Amino acid sequence: MRLHTLFLAMIALGLGNSALASYDQAPPSFTYKQDQAVFIDFDDASYDISYDFSNKKVSVNTLISFTASKAGYPIFDLVASPSEVILDGQNTYTETIKDPDQQTTLRIIQQTIAPGRHQLQLKHFITTNVVFGAAGLASGFWTSDLNDRRYLEQYLPTNLEFDQYKMYVRVNVLGAEGLPHVLKTNGNVTQIAENSFEVVFPKFYTASSVFFHLFPVKNSGNNVQFYYPSIDGRLIPVDIYTTYNTEEFVVSTKKILAELEADYGPFPHDQVIIYGNSPSGGMEYSGATATSLSALGHELFHSYHARALMPANGNAGWMDEAIARWRDNKYPFLAKLNFESTQLAGHSVWSRMTDRMAYTEGSAFLSLIAYRMNEKGLSLKLFFKDYFQTYKYTTVTTPLFQAEITRASSLDLAKDFDKYIYGKSYLKNSARHTQEDPNHPRLTKEQLLELTWP
Ligand SMILES: [Zn+2]
Repeated sequence: MRLHTLFLAMIALGLGNSALASYDQAPPSFTYKQDQAVFIDFDDASYDISYDFSNKKVSVNTLISFTASKAGYPIFDLVASPSEVILDGQNTYTETIKDPDQQTTLRIIQQTIAPGRHQLQLKHFITTNVVFGAAGLASGFWTSDLNDRRYLEQYLPTNLEFDQYKMYVRVNVLGAEGLPHVLKTNGNVTQIAENSFEVVFPKFYTASSVFFHLFPVKNSGNNVQFYYPSIDGRLIPVDIYTTYNTEEFVVSTKKILAELEADYGPFPHDQVIIYGNSPSGGMEYSGATATSLSALGHELFHSYHARALMPANGNAGWMDEAIARWRDNKYPFLAKLNFESTQLAGHSVWSRMTDRMAYTEGSAFLSLIAYRMNEKGLSLKLFFKDYFQTYKYTTVTTPLFQAEITRASSLDLAKDFDKYIYGKSYLKNSARHTQEDPNHPRLTKEQLLELTWP
C-alpha cells in the first residue's frame, strides 16, 4: 500500500507525465457552439507588468505556453477583458461564459485548437486593488476562497486551481524616479534597478499561491527581518511588516513555526512573509500571509494545508479549513455529530469556492474521525503529518483524502463521507452558508484598498 501511495505521489509531483500531472483534476469539458469548451494545462506563463505612475495605468503583457489534450475552444480565466489576444500568432478575442451549472464565469478563446502545445499572448490592464498616491503607488494581489473568481484571475490571466505551472513576473514602475518602491512577494525576487524587479515563482504554484504587494519604500511601516532556523537546517528568511507592534508578531511567529515544524515537518516554503495589517482575520498564501495577530497561527498553518498541499477545486477547499480549525481548537475528539449533513464536497464540479461550513461542520467531522481513530489507538494528527509529507506540493481532491484516511484508519467511512461531506442526503438547492468566519471574514472593497496602501 505504501508503494501505491508513493507511485501516486510521484505522478502528482511530475516525475511521471509532467505536463499533464494535475490535468485529470480539471473540470469536465462541455458543449459550446456545436463544439467543446475545453480546459487546458498551462506549462508556464510570463507576465510583464508596467505600472505607469504618471498616467495612473497598469498594463500587462502575458505569454502563456499551454498544452491541450482535447480539441475545442480553450478555457482559462482573467476577470478583466483583454485588449489584445493572439493565439499561435493569430489575432483572436475572448468571451466570458457560464459553466453548464451556472456556478462560475470563465474566459473562453473564440478559436478552436487541436490537441498539442500552443502559445497565448494577451494584453490587459489591472485596476483592482491599485492605489495611486502623491508619493508613489501600491498594488496588492489579495485573494479569497469564499467568493467566486477571487484568485489570481483578478489580476493576471491564469488557470483554475487544479493547474500548477511556473510563473515569471517582471515588474516596472515607470515615471516614479526618486520614489523607490518595494516588492514583497513569495517568489525568488531580483531587483534589477530602482523600481524594476524580476520574480520567478516555484513550479508547484497555482492560482491561489501568489502573494504580491508593491508599495513605496517610505510606507514600509515597522519592518523586521530575521532568519528562522528550520529543523531541517535551513535558515528561512522571515519578513514581517506592519503598522502594529512588530515584537508581538515576531514572538508569535517563532512560537507558531516551532509548533508547526514539530507537528508536520520542516516549513515547506523558502520564506515567511507576514503583512500584519489585516483589519481582522487574514488570508493565506504559500509561505506568506496578510493577517491580524489573532489569526497568525491559523494562516501560517495554511502554509502547510492549503498552500503547500493545495485544493484542486472548490469541492476540495473545505479540507484545509477543517484541518486548520481542528488545530485552532487544539485537536478535539467528538463521539457524535450534532448535524444532519453538509454539502462540503457536494457542490457542482465547476464550483470554485470553499463552502463556509468547512470551519464548523467540517472540523467537527474531523473530530469524529479523530475520536474513532483514537479508540483504535490511532492518531488523526499523526496521519495528517504523513499525508502532508506524501502530498505536499501537489493538488488534492476530497476522494483522494477519503481514500488515504480510510486506508490509514481502516475505518469504514464511505457512508459518513456520503452523508456528511458529499451531502447525498442534503436538501437539494439548499443555500450556501453565508455566516462570516472570524479567521476569514470577507473584506469589503474599501478594506482591500486600505490593505493595499500600507
Ligand atoms: Zn483558514
